Amino acid sequence: MTAETVKTNLLGLTQSKLEEFFISIGEKKFRAQQVMKWIHHFGVDNFDEMSNVSKALRERLKVCAEIRGPEVVSCDFSADGTRKWVVRVASGSCVETVYIPDGKRGTLCVSSQAGCALDCSFCSTGKQGFNSDLTVAEIIGQVWLAAKSFNNVPARSDRAITNVVMMGMGEPLLNFDNVMDSMNLMMDDLGYGLSKRRVTLSTSGVVPAMHRMVGLTDVSLAVSLHAPNDALRNELVPINKKYPLKELLAAIHDYMSTLSDKNRVVTIEYTLLKGINDQPEHAEQMIALLRDVPCKINLIPFNPFPGSGYERPSNNAIRRFQVMLLEKGFNTTVRKTRGDDIDAACGQLVGQVQDRTRRSARYRDQQQQNSGAEPVKVMGMAS
Ligand code: SAH
Ligand code: SF4
Repeated sequence: MTAETVKTNLLGLTQSKLEEFFISIGEKKFRAQQVMKWIHHFGVDNFDEMSNVSKALRERLKVCAEIRGPEVVSCDFSADGTRKWVVRVASGSCVETVYIPDGKRGTLCVSSQAGCALDCSFCSTGKQGFNSDLTVAEIIGQVWLAAKSFNNVPARSDRAITNVVMMGMGEPLLNFDNVMDSMNLMMDDLGYGLSKRRVTLSTSGVVPAMHRMVGLTDVSLAVSLHAPNDALRNELVPINKKYPLKELLAAIHDYMSTLSDKNRVVTIEYTLLKGINDQPEHAEQMIALLRDVPCKINLIPFNPFPGSGYERPSNNAIRRFQVMLLEKGFNTTVRKTRGDDIDAACGQLVGQVQDRTRRSARYRDQQQQNSGAEPVKVMGMAS
C-alpha cells in the first residue's frame, strides 16, 4: 500500500479525534457527530448508507477512510445464553469477547490486549504470553460488533448491552491510551451512551497507571486482589513485587477519593483457589486489610484450565469465606460461573496468541515434564 491509500479507520476515533480528521480534510467538524451516530448508533460500515452526508463527501470518505471492525473468527452460544466471539486483530492473534445476559442486565466482557505480560499464576490468558496491545478500533470494535449482532444498537430500544467490563484478555492499564479512548467512546452519547457506573476497568494493580487515571476518567474501578498479604500476592499476582499492597491501597484511595460521586466503591475481585487463599486466616487478613476501604467484594471461584495446578474450593469453603466477610459488614458476592460450556468463564479466555515472550512454550514444556504425558494443549497460532 502507498501512503496515499492508507485509510483512516473511523471506528477507533473519539469525537475530538474525528473532528480533527474532518478538519484535516477541509470539512466542518460537525460531520463528526453525524458520522459517529451512523457508526455506533446504527452499526453502519458503509458510507453509502449515511443518508445525511452529501454524495460528494461520501465519495471522498471512501477514498481516505474506512469503518473496519475486527474480523470475527467464530461465535459460540452457551446453553445459559452467554455468547463468545473470537476475533482476529491486526497482529494476527485472536482475542475473545464474552456477552453475559443476567435478567435485565447484559454485560459485555471486552479484551484489551492479545495475551498478557503479567503472568498471574492462575490465569490462562497469562499462560499465553503476550503479543500486542489492541488498537482503539479493535477494543471499541468488540462492542460495535456485539451490538450489531444483536441488531440492537443504542438507537433502538431494548438494549442488549447495558454494561461493559474491561475483564477480557489483557491488562487494560498496560494499554492505557487506547483503553481510555475506548472507554470514552463507550460513555459518549454519540457512542454507546453507557453511564460511568456501567463501564468497569479491572486491573491487577498497575499502580502508576492507576494514579494516571485520576482526573482523566471516572469509570468504575475493579482491583484484582487475590491475596491479603504481600508474600502470597507476590506468588499469585507477580506485579505485586513491583507494586506491593500498601502502594496498591494508596492508589485505590487516590482514584476513588477524587470521584465526584462519593457513594461509589471499588470492587475487589478475589479468585478463590483451594487450599491456597481460601482459608479462614485469609478472610481475617482481608478484613483487616480492607477495613478502611469503601468496597464491595466479588469472590470468583477458580475456573480450571488444563495443567493450571489449582483447584476450585468446595461450595462449603466458598460459602464459609463469604460468610466471614459478610459478618464483618462487607458486601460480598460470589460470581456465578457463566458460559463454561464454551470456555467463556473468567480466566478461561485464551484466544490464539502469537506469543512474543516464549512463555507459552515454557509453560507447555513444564506441563509436559510434570505429567510425563501428552503435551497440554495451549492454544497458539499454528506457525
Ligand atoms: N487483567 C485484568 C483484567 C482481566 S482478568 C485483571 O487481572 O484484573 C478478569 C478477572 O478474572 C481478574 O480478576 C482475574 O484475576 C480473574 N481470573 C483470571 N483467571 C481466572 C481463573 N482461572 N478463574 C477465575 N478467575 C480468574
Ligand atoms: Fe493478565 Fe489479568 Fe490474567 Fe493477570 S489475571 S495474567 S493481569 S489478564
